[in-house]
Amino acid sequence: MWKPVLGRAFVTLGEPSGRPIRVSFEATETLLAHRTSSATSSVRIVHDRELARALGRVLAHEIGHVLLGAPYHDEVGLMRPTFYPNELVDPDRARFRLTCFGIDRLTNRIRTMTGREPEAFDEGTCVRGHIVR
Ligand SMILES: [Zn+2]
Repeated sequence: MWKPVLGRAFVTLGEPSGRPIRVSFEATETLLAHRTSSATSSVRIVHDRELARALGRVLAHEIGHVLLGAPYHDEVGLMRPTFYPNELVDPDRARFRLTCFGIDRLTNRIRTMTGREPEAFDEGTCVRGHIVR
């Protein structure tokens, strides 16, 4: 199965390394061009708005690795290891939320790095899921 690398980030358990996050425009655009649809054709035209949404989601995932200090993935949500092309362009953002564990981890990281209590997150905005390696 073809699994392109859409983005990369350098993860450190301490403070973020400052190394750049990389998002591949070409890989993301190519992946979107291979979406399946209800039509028989598997190749579709990639529209700018869809490409922008997909690139934003790939970037959000990579930022998630850095902010969470997480070299692993979750089984669901923003930090899952695989994004399918149809999901990347879906206007519904529900599949791109952090897991409740991810929000807890982010809250603890903010508290540790800043010495301040972060604003409370709305529990209703997270999804339930476990870590996968
Ligand atoms: Zn990842």
